[in-house]
Formats: sequence, structure tokens, C-alpha cells
Amino acid sequence: MSEQKPPAPRKKGKMDWYFKSNLLVRIFLGLILGAVIGLIFGDAISWLQPFGDLFIRLLTMIVMPIIIATLVVGAASISPATLGKVGIKIVLFYLLTSAFAVFIGLLSGNIFRPGRGLDFQAAEGITDSITREAPSFVDTLLNLVPRNVVGAVADGNVLPVIFFAILFGIGISYLKASKEKRVKDAADVIFKFFDATAEVMYLIVGGIMQYAPIGVFALIAVVFGDQGAEAAGPLGVVTFAAYLGYIVHIVVIYGGLLTLNKLKAGYFFKSVRAPMVTAFVTRSSGGTLPISMKAAEENLGVHKNVYSFTLPLGATINMDGTAIYQGVCAIFIGIAIGAPLTIVQQLTVILTAVLASIGTAGVPGAGAIMLLMVLNSVGMPVEPGTAVAAAYAMILGIDAILDMGRTCVNVTGDLTGSTLVAKSEKELDTARWG
Ligand code: ASP
Repeated sequence: MSEQKPPAPRKKGKMDWYFKSNLLVRIFLGLILGAVIGLIFGDAISWLQPFGDLFIRLLTMIVMPIIIATLVVGAASISPATLGKVGIKIVLFYLLTSAFAVFIGLLSGNIFRPGRGLDFQAAEGITDSITREAPSFVDTLLNLVPRNVVGAVADGNVLPVIFFAILFGIGISYLKASKEKRVKDAADVIFKFFDATAEVMYLIVGGIMQYAPIGVFALIAVVFGDQGAEAAGPLGVVTFAAYLGYIVHIVVIYGGLLTLNKLKAGYFFKSVRAPMVTAFVTRSSGGTLPISMKAAEENLGVHKNVYSFTLPLGATINMDGTAIYQGVCAIFIGIAIGAPLTIVQQLTVILTAVLASIGTAGVPGAGAIMLLMVLNSVGMPVEPGTAVAAAYAMILGIDAILDMGRTCVNVTGDLTGSTLVAKSEKELDTARWG
């Protein structure tokens, strides 16, 4: 980021104790306090919801402008060939780590066997039958191309927006090299426009983060008030198995890959604390994007022309936490209905959970819907009145708690992949890694 003149010294303000203290410490305190207050007051604390919603709205507000601005600038400063290489590398990274993630989820499920002791037979009318069909491969590819750019932006459809913004950026880079002065000057102006827009967005994100401790407190208090006791109680083993899987994936896979690539894992995790916590409390990879981008730019030293593309893509298709959750839950449901998954079924889960996690939107609760697809693939469709529906409804009851951890993993995966690809393309400022 460019140097800015420090503002003129101002008088000591009444809120200095708030604004002058360490932001991450404040956010962490908000988190702990929220959990404690939520557990103490239970449902009675739900009036705090609007304070949490405000935080999520502020973040969501900034998502589209920040994606477009950074991506146009990024694509305009990189050659199409390099962009292609970055694209292939990051997609491979996202796919492979997701496959590992399901494996870890299944492993954790097989070790802890959540669902033991439950004996569901048919239960009536637990959930409506929500069967999901995955869109065909051809449709998925066609959907990358927006029919209407403004419509895609308005609907928050990240992939078609990425597609258009890259084309636009590449267009600018061609015009910037034009021999015709008029065209070149015009391209410079529009480049600077997007560059400045990106900077303004980061400034706004910084402001929004000042509200984060309050938003975090409210969001966590409401979730813990609603589901905390249950997640620790009867569903404790599912929660434990999922969270252990999340932690192992972060430490072993991400930490391991960073270390193998001679990057300090300690510095990485310190740098991405803010996006990790934001993902945890907002339960939305999409909503966390502005914070992830800020961390990539300012702390990790990933160049804009890499992260502007890899982070929004990751927030849309890379969901390792969701994949772990699907592995654990498939095992849970199998055991709960008295039909533990066979090896062949578990192999099927690996394949479908990777596909399902790609298809999962980066919004709260999306992974639970995609779990239906995974269950379908192993012959356990969720239909009203069935035992599967009863078991599914049970985990749905604590989805917010499971979603917090999985979203945190999802976002950490996007940042790890972006860092590693940037390093391999010499687009990482390693000097600041100490
Ligand atoms: N909430 C997750 C995310 O935004 C998706 C999911 O529900 O698994 O990354």
C-alpha cells in the first residue's frame, strides 16, 4: 500500500481505550465473552442478532467492489500466460487439498465413531425431502460466462464476475501498450480508477474491522446461546471429531505444505488471524473475502495479480473444511441408522464430497445442503420419515457450530494456496516473512 501522511495529532478522545488497543486482542475478547454470555443466557440473548448482522452486512457490502477492483488491476498487471499458469496451479492445489480433507474427515469419523449408541429407525416428518441435483459439467462451465454482467454483480455470482473482470483487466493491459497516445492515456486513467477503488476499499475494510469486536461478540453470543449446550452434549462426539479434523488439516496439511516450501508457518498463521476469526464468526467465506484480501496484501506480501484471482476463486470453489465435515457426518449418519459405511461407500464419499465442496456456496449453512448430495451418492437419501432424515436433522441442529470451524478451514486453505502459488511464481514478497 502507498505511504500516507499521518493525520494531524488530535486530542485525547473518550474512545481511545477502544481504538488505541490491539484490534486482534479486542476481537478475541469479543469472541470469548460472546461464548460465555451465550452459554449463560441461552436463547434469551437472541436480541443481539442485529449487532452481528450489521457486521456481516458491512462485509458483504464490500465484497463485489473489492473483487472487481483488485481483479481488474491484477489481471491488467500480469501476462495472460502467467495467469493461465496461476490458474492451473491453484485449481490443482484446491482439488488435492480437498481430497485430503475428506480423507481426514473419514479417518476422524472412523476413529471416534460418532453416532454410537444412537438407534434411529423410522422417524416421522423430520425434514422435508430436499433432494439436490448437481448441475451438469457443461452447465457449470457455461455458467462461468455471465449473460449479463451487471446482473451477475447484483446477484453476487462470483465466478462469472471473475470471468468478466479478468477479460476487462487483460483488455486494459493491451490498451496500455497501445501506440496510439489517446488510447494509452485512456487505459491508464481507467487502470488508475480501479487501482484507487481497490485502495479505498481496503481503507473501508480497516474501518469495518474497528466494529468487528462488537459484531463478533454478538454473533458468537447468539450461536452459543442457541446451540452451545447441544454441541457439547449429545452431539459432542460429532463436534469433537469434526473439530479435530479441522485442526489436523490446518496444522498438518497447510502447516506442512508451507514448511515444505520453506515458508514459516508461524508467520503465516499470525498473519491470517483476522481472516480466520472473521470466517469463524461470520460462517461465510464470501463475506470474509475483503479481510482475506487485506491480509494477503498487507501481511503475507502476496502480489495482487495472484491473490485478486486465487482468493475469490477459492472462496467459491475451495471448501476443505466443508469436505471434512461431510466425511465426519456421513460416518455419523451411517452409524446412527445402524448401517455403517462400507469401504466402497467411503471411497464414493471422497469423490462426491470433493465435488460437493466445489459446488458449495461460500455462505452460512451451504455445506449442510450439499451434504444431501453426498448422502444420496451412498444410497442414504434424506426423505421424510426415514431414519436418515432423523439423523440428518440432528446434525442440522448444531450446524452453526460445525459451520464456524469449517468456514475457518475453508478460508485458511484459500490463503495457503494463494501464498504457495505466489511463491512458486515469484510473486511473494518473502522479505517480510523475516
Ligand atoms: N459456510 C461455509 C463457507 O462459507 C460453507 C459451508 O456451509 O460449508 O465457507
